[in-house]
Amino acid sequence: MMDEERKSRDELAYLCRSLFERGFSVGTAGNVSVRLSDGILMTPTNVRLGDLDPDCISKLDFDGRHVAGDKPTKEVFLHQAFYDTRPDAGAVVHLHSTWATALSCLADIDPDDCVPPLTPYVVMRVGTVKRVPYVKPGDPKMGDMIRDLQGKYAAVLLANHGPVVSGKNLFSTVAAAEELEETARLIVALRGMNTQLLTRDDVAELNATFGRI
Ligand code: ZN
Repeated sequence: MMDEERKSRDELAYLCRSLFERGFSVGTAGNVSVRLSDGILMTPTNVRLGDLDPDCISKLDFDGRHVAGDKPTKEVFLHQAFYDTRPDAGAVVHLHSTWATALSCLADIDPDDCVPPLTPYVVMRVGTVKRVPYVKPGDPKMGDMIRDLQGKYAAVLLANHGPVVSGKNLFSTVAAAEELEETARLIVALRGMNTQLLTRDDVAELNATFGRI
């Protein structure tokens, strides 16, 4: 096994356990993947993110064939859709975390921009978030809907289901998923209150100064 894969398997198990221990994933919900130079590592189906054995993590080739480890998550096409449409994506994190999922269920959010710029951190780490319509779990249409976005969004909310976030590497993508979860919590906490958002100029300044971190 190449060093790159060894290191990524260990990092994936470590960060997934950290997400699990802090309540970002309960039961066997959520799945995480990392792009390698010769394929994709993906969390296996029906396993708690807190209990991953690095050597059992699934590996797929770029054609989606299962080449090593346990059987991959049933939501594998979500991940492939991000990698296929965002060439810079090095990792994808999908959670059913409470507050981002709560936000995904609200009837009156703007589906094209469902996370308003409340803080600079969500702008820098997550950017604009699109909500895509509900389809039943395991429906490959979910992958098609993400492909149809043509890589324009680093993060989406699956309606009545949960967030999917892509990023440069595993560490920054996990941080972005955490930032999205905390921001969703702020959004729900502030609902009905007269709230000040960052201005369009503030957001433009952040994008020009920091890009996506
Ligand atoms: Zn899911």
